[in-house]
Amino acid sequence: MSSMIPTLTGEVPGAELGTTLVHEHLIVSDPQLDRDLPHPEWDEAAVMARAETQLQGLAELGVDTIVDLTVPGLGRDVRRVAELARRTSVRILVSTGWYTSDVLPHFFRLNGPGRLVEGPDPLVELFLRDIQQGIAGTDLRAAMLKVCSDRAGITTDVAHVFTAAAHAHRSTGVPITTHSDPASRGGLDQQRLLGELGVDLERVVIGHSGDSTDLSYLRELADAGSFLGFDRFGMSHTGSDEDRIRMLLALLELGYQDRLLLSHDAAVFSRITPPSWRAAHAPQWSMDHLHRRILPRLRALGVDAALEHQLLVENPRRLLTGA
Ligand SMILES: [Zn+2]
Repeated sequence: MSSMIPTLTGEVPGAELGTTLVHEHLIVSDPQLDRDLPHPEWDEAAVMARAETQLQGLAELGVDTIVDLTVPGLGRDVRRVAELARRTSVRILVSTGWYTSDVLPHFFRLNGPGRLVEGPDPLVELFLRDIQQGIAGTDLRAAMLKVCSDRAGITTDVAHVFTAAAHAHRSTGVPITTHSDPASRGGLDQQRLLGELGVDLERVVIGHSGDSTDLSYLRELADAGSFLGFDRFGMSHTGSDEDRIRMLLALLELGYQDRLLLSHDAAVFSRITPPSWRAAHAPQWSMDHLHRRILPRLRALGVDAALEHQLLVENPRRLLTGA
């Protein structure tokens, strides 16, 4: 555990992270499909220019730092993101992990300890290298671990990813964030497994918790020590902002202000939900939505400057530094 946090433009003390959006994406892709079935809306130069404009707009709104949770499985390309970090004044943190909510690529099933091709666990190797040395041959290091489970629950391969992430967390102190399925109260299974694997639940974000309207579920997660990700503001196809605001205020009322994190889970380009789809179905789902529309509403509903600072500055700093 270190108070210095690796960003794509150098290490900074946790105290300097400032206003931080802890769950965002820049470019979500699929290297195999991008080569063999290129998406008609993908134009690298145009997407990079759009990303630069969006990031610069965020800086002007007062966002200091974003965490890009685009891990392998979602087409992470750290060199592209690093170029954006150099071209703008928003600080960018990147992450490691593997994005799957059911099965891993076949490679991971047949390579590793006790598998057909005997050797070290390649997931552990990847996560530790990304955190300690650098991603994909660069010296750019990951600041978070990301794991997923969804409706299928903790499948064999999902458990494999969680186990490798827990190993990397225990040896490096890097926090873990999840993609969870609140509808099946999936965050509780995630906490149970991570706890069994020796993970400090106070260094865990149960992601997408803000999509739940089940207060007892959310309290149970927070009482176990984890952060709750209210990290999909603007994502109208998984829940309404009205509900997210209502649940956030209910948790604040109950004194959980030190367990809540705000973000969007937005992307500049994702081939899963491409720009034309987003424009039609979730037009406000972008990384400036909190600052443009949600924070003014929260302020009007009584969230004062100190509380806003706690949610956007203090809580992310505590998550990332552990202090
Ligand atoms: Zn995400």
